[in-house]
Amino acid sequence: MPELPEVETVRAGLERLLAGSVIRRARARRADLRTGIPDLRRLDGRRVAGVRRRAKYLLIDTDGPTILNHLGMTGRWHEPAGGSPGLHDHVILELADGRSLAFNDARRFGVFEFCRADGGHDALDRLGPEPLSAAFAGGVLRAAAARHRRAPIKAVIMDQAVVVGVGNIYAAESLFRAGISPALAAGRVRGERLDRLAAEIRAVLAEAIAKGGSTIDDYRQVNGLSGLFQNSFAVYGRDGQPCSACGTAIRVRAIGGRSSFWCPRCQR
Ligand SMILES: [Zn+2]
Repeated sequence: MPELPEVETVRAGLERLLAGSVIRRARARRADLRTGIPDLRRLDGRRVAGVRRRAKYLLIDTDGPTILNHLGMTGRWHEPAGGSPGLHDHVILELADGRSLAFNDARRFGVFEFCRADGGHDALDRLGPEPLSAAFAGGVLRAAAARHRRAPIKAVIMDQAVVVGVGNIYAAESLFRAGISPALAAGRVRGERLDRLAAEIRAVLAEAIAKGGSTIDDYRQVNGLSGLFQNSFAVYGRDGQPCSACGTAIRVRAIGGRSSFWCPRCQR
């Protein structure tokens, strides 16, 4: 499933392909994905101003409506070969310059909707701060750990009301770098260690964005290339393999229903 670095990489690719372009004709080839697709004729003739990201949502601004798009499990954007849509190309944007862009989503957990006239959307209303913004300052994790003292620290950093966009992969990698066991109760992690964790979350996300994200299953950049950060994983998906720092076998167990990978020696 794409996480923040993958969505940010797609955002940058879409921005390059779409910003300044006029949509000649927008059409959906089915009525719904995870939610219903609205009447896309509202986009016909509209110029794209730019592409933003909030959490794992892409926001495509036009001089008419703003598109709210979520990649779900398998969503990806691409330019269809020969301009004609292929299997699972559910939304087609035909541009005035003759190019086409398609939103492809084999498993259809994605979302393609419009924001409200005020620019908001129910899905965006209760989100925490962006991890790479100044709003994710030192105090955010300290306050969250105090509110959720008994919860595993990994569940706290994956709570989208605390901080957005830290999914299973990047939670595991940032906890490894911070030397904190994912199962440790948040209330037992001292303040300085929480500050270190916040810094490692920012660092691991920034590195992953620089490498075009991580390709585990279906994720591709808009240009069709895979991400490269999966080659830098210290713990995620490495159960049974030696820790790169100490040689101890990486372990895996379920925390909050998600597979959690950690080094029992480096992470306490
Ligand atoms: Zn280790």
